[in-house]
Amino acid sequence: MKEIVLVKYGEMALKGLNKKTFEDMLTKNIKRRIKSLGRFICTSAQSTLYITPEEDNADLSEVVDRVGKIFGIAALCRACVCEKDFDDITEKSVDYLSGILSTASSFKVTAKRADKSFPMKSPDICRELGGVLLERFPNLHVDVNNPEITVTVEIRDTNAYVHAENIKGAGGLPVGSSGKAMLLLSGGIDSPVAGWMMAKRGVHIAAIHYVSPPYTSERAQLKVEQLCEKLTDYCGGIGFYCVPFTEIQEAIKDNCPEEFFTIIMRRLMMEIAQRIAAKDGCLALITGESVGQVASQTMSAIACTDAVCRIPVFRPLIGMDKTEIIEISRKIDTFETSTLPYEDCCTVFTPRHPKVRPVLADVEKAQNSFDFEPLIAEAVEKTELKIFNFSR
Ligand code: ATP
Ligand code: MG
Repeated sequence: MKEIVLVKYGEMALKGLNKKTFEDMLTKNIKRRIKSLGRFICTSAQSTLYITPEEDNADLSEVVDRVGKIFGIAALCRACVCEKDFDDITEKSVDYLSGILSTASSFKVTAKRADKSFPMKSPDICRELGGVLLERFPNLHVDVNNPEITVTVEIRDTNAYVHAENIKGAGGLPVGSSGKAMLLLSGGIDSPVAGWMMAKRGVHIAAIHYVSPPYTSERAQLKVEQLCEKLTDYCGGIGFYCVPFTEIQEAIKDNCPEEFFTIIMRRLMMEIAQRIAAKDGCLALITGESVGQVASQTMSAIACTDAVCRIPVFRPLIGMDKTEIIEISRKIDTFETSTLPYEDCCTVFTPRHPKVRPVLADVEKAQNSFDFEPLIAEAVEKTELKIFNFSR
């Protein structure tokens, strides 16, 4: 019995003239993601993408698992391919669905007839097929309002398809369709979630991470690289920039008032990020900040940080509680890696009493007491790029 995967487009189905571009982007993202699983043909028609394996014994459950994480998809399912002939549809339905139908208690049949030349109308298909299934599976009864199993028959261009599962897709827009942005990625819980949220809106992610050896260890960097790799399941390939930040942090410590250490550090992080963003074609920065979470995330502190930014800074977690952020990080499987013990450059030279409501003029004055420009230029120059592709 031939089986395929049907993918229903999400929000992009609404995009009118851009629809074709969105579709092409999604198809490309899907093809890339399943390439290592064998040969497949991907075709699209009527806001649906058909993934047809070209080889027997293709691992379709792995296809569903991977494609289920790709943004731009409303729903997906495995389906059995039938002739456009009611007898064939009936026979294959009984066979293909026997596993779930023999253990369920209630069901209904729905039919979608995209090909209006098919001789039976949708209600006829439902009634007739429903009758056969009731006869074959005496354990079943029909429940049109709240069925355990919904058997769907789709009559389309070349074939009919039968399926009984409808898996919710990841939603959002295809990655790449909204342009590219630079994610400030730490080893913590928040920033990977922030990256995932922006990727969901179609943003192609590049990542930047600041390291301060010997204050931060190589292990801490490896942990962030591992997070990057995990994000590729959702975001596709990620360019990962690693910035040597030790000299800058030491210069802050040696030349600036302690109460402003963190805020000046954050301004310098933003400065470096936007220079690398410009080189890499990124149109915005992304951080995992949330109002009030720590001293550097009060509104006054964020205003002081933003004052150096010449491109938009997206903070998708800004109004979220930590518990909500943790829930997402568990869902996208970054939580365990994020909670491994590590040092972040943010925790090096943390002031004992950071200014909770810094005033921009004071911060600027403190920062201007030292010329950071040569160190910034050097850090940008010595930044290393690594490309991460799918982990499997
Ligand atoms: P996270 O859980 O993402 O580490 P956090 O609550 O610990 O966030 P901070 O440490 O103040 O908050 O960092 C705020 C944001 O700054 C992070 O979400 C991240 O976007 C960025 N950031 C912090 N440290 C680094 C780093 N070493 N490299 C890159 N970005 C960083
Ligand atoms: Mg952190």
